[in-house]
Amino acid sequence: MTNPRYISTRGEAPALGFEDVLLAGLARDGGLYVPETWPQFSADDIRAMKNLSYPALAQKIMAPFIGDAIPAADLKTLVEDAYATFDAPDVLPLKKIGDGEYLLELFHGPTLAFKDVAMQVLGRFFDYVLKKRGQRITIVGATSGDTGSAAIEACRDKAAIDIFMLHPHGRVSPVQEAQMTSVQAANVHNIAIEGTFDDCQDRVKDLFNDGDFRDRFNLSAVNSINWARVMAQIVYYFWAAVKLGAPDKPVAFSVPTGNFGNVFAGYGAMQMGLPIAKLVVGSNANDILARFFASGAMEMAGVVPTTSPSMDIQVSSNFERLLFDLVDRDGAACARVLTDFRKTGRFEVSADQLARARKVFAGARFNDAGTKEIIKQVHDATGELIDPHSAIGVGAARENPAPDGTPMVILATAHPAKFPDAVEDATGQRPSLPARLADLLDRPKRCQTLANDLDQLKRTIESTLA
Ligand SMILES: *Cc1c(COP(=O)(O)O)cnc(C)c1O
Repeated sequence: MTNPRYISTRGEAPALGFEDVLLAGLARDGGLYVPETWPQFSADDIRAMKNLSYPALAQKIMAPFIGDAIPAADLKTLVEDAYATFDAPDVLPLKKIGDGEYLLELFHGPTLAFKDVAMQVLGRFFDYVLKKRGQRITIVGATSGDTGSAAIEACRDKAAIDIFMLHPHGRVSPVQEAQMTSVQAANVHNIAIEGTFDDCQDRVKDLFNDGDFRDRFNLSAVNSINWARVMAQIVYYFWAAVKLGAPDKPVAFSVPTGNFGNVFAGYGAMQMGLPIAKLVVGSNANDILARFFASGAMEMAGVVPTTSPSMDIQVSSNFERLLFDLVDRDGAACARVLTDFRKTGRFEVSADQLARARKVFAGARFNDAGTKEIIKQVHDATGELIDPHSAIGVGAARENPAPDGTPMVILATAHPAKFPDAVEDATGQRPSLPARLADLLDRPKRCQTLANDLDQLKRTIESTLA
């Protein structure tokens, strides 16, 4: 097998192989890694995917991105183990909710949100590559809820990894707090900081900025810009599309979007040969992307809290990967646009670039009232309870119907019981947690509370790892 190479969107960092890209996360020039060329699947290749199980399909799609880094037999074990943590028989169920309208449920993993789909694979790949190299890492992160629990579940009991996850004390939802702190694994260390989410993030940045500390404990991150997360998400676009007639018929997708990682995976699937008619980007009141696809101008605004908190973002970090293609993969040009953007809070693409983006993408936005209305409509029409993020996907799909009866797949990114208040407010029904999590809130907790103080945090990490 030939070994794929990855290049940075800012053109200055060295090209890397899969193992190094996995462990590096962000490129050294501040850019994001993308494949130098996209693996290609022909119509016959895609037709042959029709009856594969999800783990078998995942191996097929990911193998050309991985090359020799993980031999086929090991990849099979890692991927099968990862998806055995999901409690739906076919891992990611596809449900019809209307005429040509389908929900792809990505939330049957350990923490009930779509991030598990990639994180469960990522944690195992990290552990595998580190063991092979005889290395250990310490993952440090800050979370306001969702990402932290998915990362903890992905890293628990991995011999080559310790994970420290900081959350703001008393400021995450009871379910989210319990999902993180009830994990009984010796390598998982929850820290509640007496402060805000921004304080947590600042302390994590301080740790990474301390070169000695960073090197001594081999600090690493598992954030949404890691290439392997995008790679693992490409799989389910193929999964849904072949069930609905690809490669012989195109399929459209609608994706509730925050950092643009999920929908960028759809763009990746297109580059690999999957016939996707449209990618609809759903935003909440934090609508920087919807405004971009309408006008061609990316303009930062303050973040407002909504009922779909996992999409409350100011800037979508993975958009950089699309921008790189819009500037014809000119790393210097991409870096220039983004450096300016950080300074001025604004950039604009040319009319031609906007037209190219709009050939693939469309955007739509929904405020909390609109989101609530969609949750209610879907419940009234089908009896299904959907969470506010998924509801924005449904709304965005209905505002941007695909032409000529092309089926539309809406990515359902969270279990309704993860956001029970919003769902109950819209439908009068309170969604319940799956049986395996019914006692979640009563489980014993492991968490230390620390002041918002860098020295105390460092001493705690040192003594924990001693
Ligand atoms: C993270 C998340 C999103 C946003 O996904 P991106 O890849 O950041 O665009 C949407 N919904 C839920 C429930 C999430 O956890």
